[in-house]
Amino acid sequence: MINTNPIPLFNLNKQHESLREEINSAAIRALDSMRWIIGPETENFELEFAKALDAKHCIACSSGASAIQIALGACGIGKGDHVITTPFTFIATTSSISLTGAEFSFADVDSVTGNLSPEGIEKRITKNTKAILPVHIYGYPAEMDRIMKIAQKHNLKVIEDCAQSHLAAYKGRMTGTIGHAGAFSFYPSKNLGACGDGGAVVTNDAEVAANSRSLRHCGRKADKTYEYGFEGSTLRMDDVQAAILRVKLKHLAEWTELRRKAAAKYDDALKGLPVVVPSDPGAGSSQSYYVYTIKAPRRDELAAFLSSRKIGNAIYYPMPLYKQPVYQHLGFDPKDYPNTEKLTTEVLSLPMFPEISDSDIARVAAAIKEFYGK
Ligand SMILES: *Cc1c(COP(=O)(O)O)cnc(C)c1O
Repeated sequence: MINTNPIPLFNLNKQHESLREEINSAAIRALDSMRWIIGPETENFELEFAKALDAKHCIACSSGASAIQIALGACGIGKGDHVITTPFTFIATTSSISLTGAEFSFADVDSVTGNLSPEGIEKRITKNTKAILPVHIYGYPAEMDRIMKIAQKHNLKVIEDCAQSHLAAYKGRMTGTIGHAGAFSFYPSKNLGACGDGGAVVTNDAEVAANSRSLRHCGRKADKTYEYGFEGSTLRMDDVQAAILRVKLKHLAEWTELRRKAAAKYDDALKGLPVVVPSDPGAGSSQSYYVYTIKAPRRDELAAFLSSRKIGNAIYYPMPLYKQPVYQHLGFDPKDYPNTEKLTTEVLSLPMFPEISDSDIARVAAAIKEFYGK
């Protein structure tokens, strides 16, 4: 009999079912401790997440967006400053810059990877530029060597948006530990997801770490409860989420391996078709496969065809940030971003989650093959 069960884009059920008892008891442990804000669970999660990334410091906070905002602020970026970033990302990347009081502009992305392209960065540097904010889009590591070189030359900070790149590596180092700070999201659908919102800043710089701790906690000084070095905000993680994340973090390496195995199966199954699979980031580098994204001719028709077969799919992202209504007043010109324009018409993300079965991957590939009449 033909299998016509829907294949979701991602599936949180399986993971939650398999850990339900452990998650429930961790949450109850955190509730019973009555240390609900920056208690023992948060402190332990920070140590454990830092260890997983081989980073010196981790500062848990309320979301990925707040992690970006805190990381920028902790690196000294604020009003009057300018940040260069990518237009091919989720809006939290830029809204978090604006929340610091800084302004941003976009450089185009690489036509293959969709990551901020080093070529375009230098010509956008102004006298106010203080930072570069690359995003490891889809969990594919950005070209950090070249970005760090540009940053060094112009004395800029580099803040990595790692919301999609948990455990993705670049030349032997984890993403998030290469720039001055990395910002992670633990939104439920992310590779490491809380049962609610969560995020973290990681850094190897003690001062950035101390500033981050202060900024998430109303700006208070580390050793003084009612003395403030900054105006911060209330951007802390709560201990219940930290306890849940500690349960899941133990599985993150294994889940990431399963994503990589699933991706390899897709790569194989899609050979010979007119679609382009994610490229290999090279020796010592690896992807986290937050999503598995192909470039496909007649993309919208293919997406509709897959949907008609109940195969989950999504476009990340259908509208580059420079075209968003909220940024119209900034006057960006789409002609400055030819690679982003092209990718926006080509990219399509296919079902990807650690537990996806070989037969589901085969069904997705077969549907794509059928669509192209191969
Ligand atoms: C998810 C995401 C964010 C924001 O994370 P939240 O936890 O939802 O605030 C930021 N940047 C990128 C690229 C993301 O995918």
